[in-house]
Amino acid sequence: MNQSGTVTAPASATTRTIYSPSTGEPVGEAPVHTVDDLEKAIAAASAAQPAWAALSHEERSAALNRAADAVERSAEELAQLLSREQGKPLNGPNARFEVSGCAGWLRATAATPLHPETIIDDGEIKAELHYRPIGLVGAIGPWNWPMMITVWQIAPALRMGNAVVVKPSEYTPLSVLALIKVINQELPEGLLTVISGGRDVGARLAEHPAIGKVMFTGSTATGKAIIKSSADTVKRLTLELGGNDAGIVLPDADPKAIAEGLFWGAFLNTGQTCAALKRLYVHTDIYDAVCEALTAVAAAMPMGDGLDENNVLGPLQNRQQFDIVSRLVEAAKESGAKVLLGGNPKADQPGNFYPTTIVADIDNDNPLVAEEQFGPALPIIRYNTVEEAIAHANGLEVGLGASVWSADPAAARDVAMRLEAGTVWINSHGMVNPLIPFGGSKQSGYGLEFGLEGLKALGVPQVING
Ligand code: NAD
Repeated sequence: MNQSGTVTAPASATTRTIYSPSTGEPVGEAPVHTVDDLEKAIAAASAAQPAWAALSHEERSAALNRAADAVERSAEELAQLLSREQGKPLNGPNARFEVSGCAGWLRATAATPLHPETIIDDGEIKAELHYRPIGLVGAIGPWNWPMMITVWQIAPALRMGNAVVVKPSEYTPLSVLALIKVINQELPEGLLTVISGGRDVGARLAEHPAIGKVMFTGSTATGKAIIKSSADTVKRLTLELGGNDAGIVLPDADPKAIAEGLFWGAFLNTGQTCAALKRLYVHTDIYDAVCEALTAVAAAMPMGDGLDENNVLGPLQNRQQFDIVSRLVEAAKESGAKVLLGGNPKADQPGNFYPTTIVADIDNDNPLVAEEQFGPALPIIRYNTVEEAIAHANGLEVGLGASVWSADPAAARDVAMRLEAGTVWINSHGMVNPLIPFGGSKQSGYGLEFGLEGLKALGVPQVING
C-alpha cells in the first residue's frame, strides 16, 4: 500500500495561488496540471486497475473502510482546509459535517451488498446478471461540496474494481488534493489520481478513449458539452447537473413548525447546494405567516468567516457566483418585489459575502425564480390553487429535487407524485442518504448515485446465459 500518498497528483511545472473567499488571503498553491499530466495519470491508472479488479468485493470494501478510518484520523485538518478554501463554516451542516460525510459514504459504499442476480433458472434456461468493472473512470466535480461529491464519485467506482482520475473544480483543488492524499494511504499506487487543471483537462478527460465512464457533477451547460465530447467513444455517463428546486407549502402547514426546515432546505451551504430549495410556493392563506416565520429564523443565523466557530453561513465561493446572485436580486428589486431580509451586500467588506436574502411578492417569471441562483437568496411566490403551484413547479426544464410541506402526509404524497423531480422530500428538503438513490430528471441529468443503484452504475452489466 502507498503509505506516503505522494502519487496523489503528478508533479506540475506551474502552480496557482488559491485565495480565501472570506478574507482574500492566500490559502495555498495548487498544481496546474496539463493534458500531458493527464496522460501520465491515465497510464498509471491503466497499470494499476487490473490487479485491483482481481480483488474480491470484500477486499476492496476493506480498503474503503480503511480509507474511511484515515479520513477520520485527519478530519479536523481536512475540515479546516475545506473551510479556508471553499468558505463554508466549520460548524453547522458545513465543513466538519462534509468531512464526516466522506467517511460515512466510504463505509456505506463498502457495506452495500452486490451479488449476481439469477434472472431465470427453470431447469431449461439459466441466466445470471453480473457486473464487471468498467476499467477507468473520470470524476469531474464542482466547487460547492468538493470533498463530499468527490467521494460520491470515487467510492462506488473503486468498490466496483475501477481506477479513477479525478478532475476537481479549478476553484477548490486543494480540498480534493488533500482528501485524496489521505484516502491514498490505503490504496495501491496509481489507482486514484488527481489532475488539478482547467476546463481543457476536463474536456480531454471526457473524450479520452481510455476512459470508460465519466461521473460528472456540475452545471447543465458543462454536462451538455460532456455528452458531446463523450459521444465518439460511447462513454457511460452519470450526470448530476443544475437544478432549480421548488418547494410547495400546502395551506394546512404550520408556518412556525416548518420554518427551520425551510431555512436549511434553502440556505444549506449558503444556498450553494445542487438540491437546495430555490423557489418557494406558499398558499395565500398562510403566505404572510410563512414569510414572517422564515424571515425570523433566517435573521438569527450568523454569517461570517468560516473559521469562526459561531458562524453557520459563509461567503459565496467565488466572485462569479456573487455576481450572479447580485444580478438576480437586483432584477427582483427592479420588478417591484419586496425584500424581506438582506439584498444589500456591503461594498467595503472583504470576501464574497452576500447577506441572507428573502424576497416576497415576486412573480413566477422573475429571473430570481426562473434561473438557478445558487446562493443565499430565496424567492417566495404566492399561489391560490394547488394546481397552479404544481404547474409552476413543473414549468422549468430542470428537475433535480422538490418538496411538499403539509401536516397531512397523504395530501403531501399526492402532490409529490405529480412533481417532475428526481427526489421529492416531504417536510424537508435536500437531505441525501448513502442508501437512497439520488439523481435528476429532465435537464438535471441522468443516472443514479448512492445505494445499490449507484454501485451498478459503476459496473458493466454482463449476462451469463447457459
Ligand atoms: P461547472 O459546470 O462550471 O464545472 C464543473 C466541473 O466541470 C469543473 O471541474 C470544470 O473544470 C469542469 N469542466 C468545465 N468545462 C468542461 C468541459 N467542457 N468538459 C469537461 N469538464 C469541464 O459547474 P460549477 O460551477 O463548478 O458547479 C455549480 C453547478 O453544479 C450548479 O449548476 C449546481 O446546481 C451543479 N451541481 C449539481 C449537483 C447535482 O448533484 N446534481 C451537485 C452539485 C452541483
